[in-house]
Amino acid sequence: MSAQGSIFHVTCPTCGTSVPWNASAVWRPFCSERCRLLDLGAWFTEERSIPVAEHPADPDSVDADAERD
Ligand SMILES: [Zn+2]
Repeated sequence: MSAQGSIFHVTCPTCGTSVPWNASAVWRPFCSERCRLLDLGAWFTEERSIPVAEHPADPDSVDADAERD
């Protein structure tokens, strides 16, 4: 719509700061190295805290199914 529309901005996933997407924003889409590290840390913590999903198919029940057929 306007001339400024050509400047692409992204939102820092960590703090929500608007970050211009250009060569000077070396940590994009994060606003800074700190935010990048914080986000990675949160991601890893979240990943590790998610309980392992139950096995979709128990090997024993699969065997029983095969026998019954
Ligand atoms: Zn940030």
